[in-house]
Amino acid sequence: MTGVYYHELFGRHLEGYGHVESPARYRAVMERLRDCPFTDRLEFVEAVPADRDAITAVHESEYVDGILSLEIDQAVVLDWGDTVATTDTPRAALHAAGAAVQAAGDVLEGRFANAFCPVRPPGHHAESGRAMGFCVFNNIAIAARWLTGEAGLDRVAVIDWDIHHGNGTERMFLDDPRVLYVSLHQYPHYPGTGHYNMVGTGDGTGYTLNIPLGAGADDGLYRGEFEQRILPALDRFEPGMILISAGFDAHAEDPLSGARLSTGMFAEMTEMLAGAADRHCGGMILSFLEGGYDLDALADSVEAHVGVLARA
Ligand SMILES: [Zn+2]
Repeated sequence: MTGVYYHELFGRHLEGYGHVESPARYRAVMERLRDCPFTDRLEFVEAVPADRDAITAVHESEYVDGILSLEIDQAVVLDWGDTVATTDTPRAALHAAGAAVQAAGDVLEGRFANAFCPVRPPGHHAESGRAMGFCVFNNIAIAARWLTGEAGLDRVAVIDWDIHHGNGTERMFLDDPRVLYVSLHQYPHYPGTGHYNMVGTGDGTGYTLNIPLGAGADDGLYRGEFEQRILPALDRFEPGMILISAGFDAHAEDPLSGARLSTGMFAEMTEMLAGAADRHCGGMILSFLEGGYDLDALADSVEAHVGVLARA
């Protein structure tokens, strides 16, 4: 079975605000997962709020307290305009982070073969002390830190195929050899980071793999990068769990990128990572929704991705 960690708050963040990272994204994903051919292979689990300690393991205390104590009448801008919070945002972010740790624990304990967290707000741009790029708390980083800390895993790999570079996740683990961070992203593009010569710092040197791609990247280019670089890197690293920053904005129909991936490529990438997970960590995969802004392409791509997970 595949665990799907949901909460109605994920569909209330930015309600009524008219943002591209919209509540309609969550509804489209959940409606599809509840009404797809493999829905009986999914177990829907209501997310719990995170412990503050799990969040402050990657975020500065003042930042976390600042977010959680926000009382928002209608909307406030958290950074320079692209990241906004509305009334339910603090509690949505708290439950998104909670889903991360909860799902990580459930997969580790064998409750599920793998899990998908269709959380909002998304996470991979959030830095330790600030919101950025539609992201408030860095959900996947919270899971990676918890897994390599409290849960005692020696190594986890984070594969970030969102079309935007996950600057927040990269920076949080730049000097940490326990977390291999791999990102494929359009470059140059928002947020501007992700040059191939950033390979980590200190003890973490060699544990950051940036794969910047020009606009217009297609299935063949991604397939080649997986076969020639990503899968060999995973086989050398031997992760104890594979985490995916699953943005679906590299889809050909997406308005926020120039990439041209087909829906089927999200299934193919998932299959390749599932193979690596089978080789190294008993198939354990933990996937997080990041971007993806064309609602039909998003729902189709999530179905393709989770459909592979659910066959495991
Ligand atoms: Zn993105």
